Amino acid sequence: MSTIADNIQLVSSRIRNATQAAGRDENSVQLLAVSKTKPAEALREAYAAGLRDFGENYLQEALGKQLELADLPLIWHFIGPIQSNKTRSIAEHFAWVHSVDRLKIAQRLSEQRPADLPPLNICIQVNVSGEASKSGCTPQDLPALAQAISALPRLKLRGLMAIPEPTEDRAEQDAAFAAVQKLQASLDLPLDTLSMGMSHDLESAIAQGATWVRIGTALFGARDYSNPSR
Ligand SMILES: *Cc1c(COP(=O)(O)O)cnc(C)c1O
Repeated sequence: MSTIADNIQLVSSRIRNATQAAGRDENSVQLLAVSKTKPAEALREAYAAGLRDFGENYLQEALGKQLELADLPLIWHFIGPIQSNKTRSIAEHFAWVHSVDRLKIAQRLSEQRPADLPPLNICIQVNVSGEASKSGCTPQDLPALAQAISALPRLKLRGLMAIPEPTEDRAEQDAAFAAVQKLQASLDLPLDTLSMGMSHDLESAIAQGATWVRIGTALFGARDYSNPSR
């Protein structure tokens, strides 16, 4: 069986090859390790192999791992759907939120971000797959939402996040990620982040400008959702 360290090497070389193919600087793409459903020991192993940034979807699960791993200087990213009653804890315990898709959530995160922490880094999740996805703001609503979020004092709007409908067709992957990049460029805001690309489509995402790729399965193996720890 391959170890997490082996998998990190493989994913890193996929990222390197994709940046080279796109004529991009290798360091322009960062690896976010998506550790949902995985035990704290798996994150510790990834940390030992050099990873620092971890993405979690489920708040209670993430808080438990943060306690277990409090001895490590990890950077935590929230990447899952957000309910209003979870915003305070997210504002207190994460450095990034990739999955903001409505103003009410952003306002609460800004109000609840502790004064002693730097502004919370935010990506707006945008839905470029139409009815196939329920998460993410519509491209139509994006400009006003981005303007409003960029004015909130305790948030720092960094860019967009997207999870296109899964497909193995490279042309379809490219079209979806290109649409995200185009939406980002159409906003008259100083944004530096495109959070897009997962285990199966990171090459396409990098070709279309991704700056964070969010990788779970290719690092940690398949997920078992029957795990009761959540
Ligand atoms: C689970 C998840 C990922 C990782 O997906 P893999 O296909 O396992 O790489 C990335 N982003 C989000 C938002 C996720 O929920």
